[in-house]
Amino acid sequence: MAEYHHYRFDEVRPGVVAGIALPGGVGLSNSGIVRLEPGSVIFDTTLSPAAFREVLGESRERTGGTPTAVANSHWHLDHILGNQEVAHLSTYATERTLEILRERREALQNEIRPATLEKDIRELEARRDRASSPALRDHYDTVLSMNRALLRQAAEIRVTPPNQPFRDRLRLPGAAGAELVTFGGGHTESDAVLFLPQQRVLFAGDLVVVGTHPNVTSGDPEQWLRILERMRRLGVERIVPGHGPVVGPEALDSVAEYLETLLRLGEEEHPPEIPERYRSWTGPEQFQENWEYLRRRSSA
Ligand SMILES: [Zn+2]
Repeated sequence: MAEYHHYRFDEVRPGVVAGIALPGGVGLSNSGIVRLEPGSVIFDTTLSPAAFREVLGESRERTGGTPTAVANSHWHLDHILGNQEVAHLSTYATERTLEILRERREALQNEIRPATLEKDIRELEARRDRASSPALRDHYDTVLSMNRALLRQAAEIRVTPPNQPFRDRLRLPGAAGAELVTFGGGHTESDAVLFLPQQRVLFAGDLVVVGTHPNVTSGDPEQWLRILERMRRLGVERIVPGHGPVVGPEALDSVAEYLETLLRLGEEEHPPEIPERYRSWTGPEQFQENWEYLRRRSSA
């Protein structure tokens, strides 16, 4: 059994595996491995080539070969930075996601330059020192250890856009009947999911996150709510979220409730407290950033 630092692998169904990012590792977001019969697909390539190599290793063990396809749910760095490891394969994303990655490639590369990461780390250290509770300090320590590990790999990382755009829906070859689907943009301008109709499983990217604050700052929460409604109609039984453990379809309601709460609080003049039921979630600073984003948007 290989020893992993970045991922834990949970079998959701026979041939369907969720790579759940470990706290403090440099994967940060979840990844998925699905046997297509024949071939296999990996959904999302994590925050670093090193973390993604764990997913590739597990995929080889579970499927007996290299994947025949790889897909990115959206353009955020924690879902794409393993792409360079599989650039010779068919790598999929929506047309709009591919466009964004091509347009912003240099700016995104800048975000992971050693000098930028060193500056981020100094800022995080200052925030950790100002943290108002031990829980918040622990949170910053976890984020810091991830950033320091990312810094050690930074010189080898190249933002690599995928090579196969798709428009609305793409059925991947194989008896598994897996489909890449986009309902437009909510978390970002364009979000894709991996839908397994026979197995009733959905890899949701960051349209669903569990136990952590959803990030609305590059998307549109109203559209996101509409997308959640369409996801509900897929009739899935298990959802692999972008962050957090594998869940049932009730997670769609929990994200919807968060977005509705946020939209309501976005009408307030002053920064609200984090509502009680979200206080135990990780990434508390995201709540404030979400609120500020909605305020800026309404005054624009
Ligand atoms: Zn994201």
